Amino acid sequence: MNVQKFMVIGAGQMGSGIAQVAAQAGLQVVLHDVKPEFTQRGLQTIAKNLSRNVEKGKLSEAEKQAVLDRIALSNDLGNAHDVDFVVEAVTENMAVKTEIFKQLDDICPAHTVLASNTSSLPITEIAAVTKRPAQVIGMHFMNPVPVMKLVEVIRGLQTSDEVYNLVDDLAKQMGKVPVSVNDFPGFISNRVLMPMINEAIYCVYEGVATPEAVDEIMKLGMNHPMGPLTLADFIGLDTCLYIMEVLHEGFGDSKYRPCPLLRKYVKAGWLGKKSGRGFYSYE
Ligand code: NAD
Repeated sequence: MNVQKFMVIGAGQMGSGIAQVAAQAGLQVVLHDVKPEFTQRGLQTIAKNLSRNVEKGKLSEAEKQAVLDRIALSNDLGNAHDVDFVVEAVTENMAVKTEIFKQLDDICPAHTVLASNTSSLPITEIAAVTKRPAQVIGMHFMNPVPVMKLVEVIRGLQTSDEVYNLVDDLAKQMGKVPVSVNDFPGFISNRVLMPMINEAIYCVYEGVATPEAVDEIMKLGMNHPMGPLTLADFIGLDTCLYIMEVLHEGFGDSKYRPCPLLRKYVKAGWLGKKSGRGFYSYE
C-alpha cells in the first residue's frame, strides 16, 4: 500500500511533532484533537519549529508554507473515513486509547493501518478491540519528534509482516531509524530507561546523594548527555510513574516497584518541567 493520507490523533507534544515530520516527508496530514484550541496550538507549535528552521537556513519560506499547507486540522473523528494510516498519540491511558481504536475501526476503510505511539501499553491488547488486529502496530516516536532519530516499531501478537514492513518504510520516509521489538511491557526503551530513572530516585530517597550529584555522576561518569533526574523532569514524573506501574504490573516483579518518593512528588503535583517543579525548580 502507498500511504498518501496520514492522520494523527492527539495534537499534544508528540502528536504535533509526528504531524510535522509526516508533512515534511510529503504526506497529506490530518491532525485531530478534541477541541479547536488544541489543534490550533499543535499547528502553532509546528509553525514555530519550521520558522526556526527557516532562520537557520535549513528550509526556505516557500518550503515551510508547503509543509503547513499539507496539514489539515480536525475535531471530528469522522474525518478518518478516507485515510490510509493513523497514528494515535493521545493521553497514556488504556481506556481512552481503546475507545479511539474501536471508533477508528468502524470509521476507517478496510485497508487502513492503525498505529499507536504509546510509551508502554500493550499493542496486543489495543489491537484486540478492533476487527483488524493484523493491521494494528506500535510506532513509538521519541521526544522531541522532529529531532530524535529513533522509532521503536512494536509488533503485536497478530501484527502482519506486510504491516510491519509498511511501517518500517514509512519511518524511513519520515527520516527516522526504525528498530523492531516485540510486544512486552515498556518495550525496550522504557524497560531499560525507567528502572534506571527509578533507581536514581531511590538514591535521592535513601539519602545517598543529592539530585545534582546523581545527575553529575551519570553525565560525567557514563557520558549521558543529561542526568536521569533532569530527564525524568523533562519526560514528566506522572508519565514515569505510569510506566513503572505498567512494568510492575506487567511482569509482577518487585524489582519494578515505583520509588515512594516518585509517588509523593506526583501526588504533590510536582510533575517536572511541565508543572514548574520536580527534582528541580523551573520557576
Ligand atoms: P500530551 O498531553 O502533550 O498530548 C495528548 C493530546 O491528546 C492532548 O492534546 C489531548 O487533548 C489529546 N486527547 C486526549 N484524549 C483525546 C481523544 N479522546 N481524542 C483526541 N485527542 C485526545 O501528551 P504527549 O506527551 O504528546 O503523549 C501522547 C502519547 O505519546 C502518550 O501515549 C505518551 O505515552 C506517548 N509518548 C510520550 C513521550 C513523551 O516524552 N512525552 C514520548 C514517547 C511517547
